[in-house]
Amino acid sequence: MSNASASSCKQAPSMIVPIVNFGRCEGKADCAVVCPENVFDIHRIDPAEYERLGPLQKFKLRVHGMKVAYTPNADACRACGLCVTACPERAITLARMT
Ligand code: SF4
Repeated sequence: MSNASASSCKQAPSMIVPIVNFGRCEGKADCAVVCPENVFDIHRIDPAEYERLGPLQKFKLRVHGMKVAYTPNADACRACGLCVTACPERAITLARMT
């Protein structure tokens, strides 16, 4: 008779996480408002990430205060999709972690 541990039946945590496209994000924080798991934190873009953007994207970010949505609590994501729907810039996608 098998005696499998309970953990073998559980889905691994953080299999789905939100990915924010900084080329689209304007830091409007709609995602942070709707997310029931407090996944998002809106703050100034990291200089290295800013440098990777194209000229038009950099201009847009400067106009919008240089803020973007980071996901410090991505592990808590439940893949409800509310952030994807709420984002006016369509900057968020959900991706399966590998
Ligand atoms: S999918 Fe739901 S839980 Fe996950 S980050 Fe978006 S709003 Fe939060």
